[in-house]
Amino acid sequence: MTDKYAVIGNPIWHSKSPLIHAAFAKQTHQDISYEAIEAPLDGFEVKVRGLIAQDYKGANVTVPFKFDAFKLCDELTQRAQLAGAVNTLTFRQNKIFGDNTDGVGLVADITQNLNIAINQKSVLLMGAGGAAYGVVLPLLEAGAILSIANRTPEKATQLANTFNKLEIGKFEINAGEFLKFKNQSFDIVINATSTGLTDDLPDISVNNFAANALAYDMMYSRETKFKKLAEESDKQVKFTDGLGMLVQQAAEAFYVWRYIRPSTPPVIQMIRTL
Ligand code: NDP
Repeated sequence: MTDKYAVIGNPIWHSKSPLIHAAFAKQTHQDISYEAIEAPLDGFEVKVRGLIAQDYKGANVTVPFKFDAFKLCDELTQRAQLAGAVNTLTFRQNKIFGDNTDGVGLVADITQNLNIAINQKSVLLMGAGGAAYGVVLPLLEAGAILSIANRTPEKATQLANTFNKLEIGKFEINAGEFLKFKNQSFDIVINATSTGLTDDLPDISVNNFAANALAYDMMYSRETKFKKLAEESDKQVKFTDGLGMLVQQAAEAFYVWRYIRPSTPPVIQMIRTL
């Protein structure tokens, strides 16, 4: 029998997840269906309970429900617990299991698809919202020397303190407002702010890129000012958008559900050509 999965969000029409999971299923010969479902803003739990009643096996969760999903779970993985948000639900034995695959998606995209090492590299994470929370643990586990800059500095400090207290990384996270990092250059600069949506640029300059740095924008399918800044630099900065992260987080969710890891480069390629 076909196992049913879905992605829940609002809005959801733009989601590429059904295409990605269909490609994974074809590639790995898994008999699954995967659809995009919109939940009313105040109706996430009702929607999830409805899917469970219809024998769905799991669901991905996207904006704005990742925090609602976190609250709804009976059990959480450590990475979901630390992220404070859930993007992958598994329905099993009358329980809801929550996971967060966004962070491993980012790290896998950088280290495997782009073939860039993170260990011992200086990394500036810009932003302290949901996406930033999800990527700190995997970045630390990959050996990053991490700094976090945010428009509201208290949020950056709070995020850093959460992980510094746990002594997860080899190095303390340095956090604060953008100005604090004005004269510092980084091997990897990650844009986890939502500035791509409003055509803004976080308060950084080309000086923040080290020679041959990676400029990683979590945003995809859109030209951003961050991309333009990276291209303006004369330090051989490599720019990439967040499409690889999107496909990698989906691959990790697929693994959580099906215990099989699909190959991602052909799927990233396929989505790029759409
Ligand atoms: P949130 O709303 O939780 O956080 C937004 C962050 O952006 C905050 O840190 C906020 O700072 C900052 N910000 C907003 N406007 C500005 C501005 N004008 N200047 C500087 N900083 C600003 O969003 P998410 O964390 O959920 O998402 C962030 C981005 O990551 C989105 O573009 C999203 O599409 C992308 N994303 C991509 C994924 C992928 O798979 N590629 C996965 C998840 C997210 P402040 O605290 O001061 O308000």
